[in-house]
Amino acid sequence: MDFKITEELQFMKDSAHDFAEKEIIPFADKWDEEHHFPLEVVKKMGELGYFGCTIPEEYGGTGCGYLALTMICEEISRGSSSVRVAFNTQNLGTALSILRHGTDEQKKRWIPELISARKIGCFAITEPNAGSDVVSLKTTARKDGDHYVLNGGKTWISFASKADLAMVYAYTNREAGAKGLSAFVVDMHTPGISTRDLDKLGTRSSPTSEIAFEDARIPKDALLGKEGDGVKIVFGSLNQTRLSCAAGGVGLAQACLEAAVKYCQERSQFEKPVGEFQMNQALIAEMATDIEAARLLTYRAAWLKDQGQLNNVLETSMAKLTAGRVVTECAEKAMRTLSAYGYSTEYPVARYFRDAILYQIVEGTTNIQKMIIGTDQLGIRKANR
Ligand SMILES: Cc1cc2nc3c(=O)[nH]c(=O)nc-3n(C[C@H](O)[C@H](O)[C@H](O)COP(=O)(O)OP(=O)(O)OC[C@H]3O[C@@H](n4cnc5c(N)ncnc54)[C@H](O)[C@@H]3O)c2cc1C
Repeated sequence: MDFKITEELQFMKDSAHDFAEKEIIPFADKWDEEHHFPLEVVKKMGELGYFGCTIPEEYGGTGCGYLALTMICEEISRGSSSVRVAFNTQNLGTALSILRHGTDEQKKRWIPELISARKIGCFAITEPNAGSDVVSLKTTARKDGDHYVLNGGKTWISFASKADLAMVYAYTNREAGAKGLSAFVVDMHTPGISTRDLDKLGTRSSPTSEIAFEDARIPKDALLGKEGDGVKIVFGSLNQTRLSCAAGGVGLAQACLEAAVKYCQERSQFEKPVGEFQMNQALIAEMATDIEAARLLTYRAAWLKDQGQLNNVLETSMAKLTAGRVVTECAEKAMRTLSAYGYSTEYPVARYFRDAILYQIVEGTTNIQKMIIGTDQLGIRKANR
């Protein structure tokens, strides 16, 4: 067991920290207030190779691995939880699935565009009546000569209204049940595809949208893998996008801790800094310890992926479950520490508070992570298959 972070990884983490300090943190509250999607920053991150960590050089990536991506993602999320979403739309939920299941031609055509952020991606699983129960989705892809015809609707899709490409999950054969689900890489500029943005509580500089498919004809080479591979691809992908959620939760929790520490040192009441009150010290101690525990689980899940264990559902769920709980608790503790100044929209803690709860919803809710872990431990269904 070696907990030492290599010099190379530390350098990448520090560089991402500096990037967030300079390019994200000074603007994050304004972007959030204006619901502004900082496309130019996402593109810079693409140029810096942040989305290429899990992709080999032959497809434009850096190949530096999952732990590297995790550390970079954590630092970006410390600056803005909204910008963190790009790790999933440009890599873990899109390019990585293409790398794992696509033909050489598909890899060459789409992966470099996504990880460089020359093209914006999204992945569309959720539908109005299919959230946690992924396979109950209704969108269909009917074969018609050299095309598939997409019909149906998705909802809550991050970046959809800005996206050039989407990973879309749709049934090619409804009668076959889950075995009839397929995955497609879809050009979002295809006639018959439209989007509508949704308003939401937090993560407001990451647009989230509905997508409507109305007889949208996509070429047959948009199919990823074979017809019927959809279940394998979607669950394999969720186990990677979950890692970025865990890392994002850790980064946002760290931002909460830093805000609370700063306030405790600067604010005086009863003629002393409020950090001298032991009840505030207890909050800080709990936050710091919980964050470190979540970070270690997250780094371990990433490290296992670097050892080739991309099916590490158990460890990834444990990391995501813990990070989701820790970030919401830290946001609440930071709010209590800053009190009225936490509640004010003039300070980022209000944004952290609104953003934190998302980590208990996306990429499988907290209940779903508990179901995965609980059924594994009880011998009902093995998580790592
Ligand atoms: C801001 C935002 C961004 C998103 N981005 C994307 C995206 O890019 N792509 C995408 O495809 N989706 C995206 N989603 C959708 C997200 O993945 C779903 O919201 C999530 O999977 C939960 O589905 P649901 O909201 O429909 O809840 P439901 O599935 O309806 O669940 C409702 C409640 O029941 C619980 N529950 C459900 N089933 C079980 C069970 N078997 N056991 C115990 N409890 C259960 C849930 O935990 C929850 O508490 C996004 C959502 C949000 C809010």
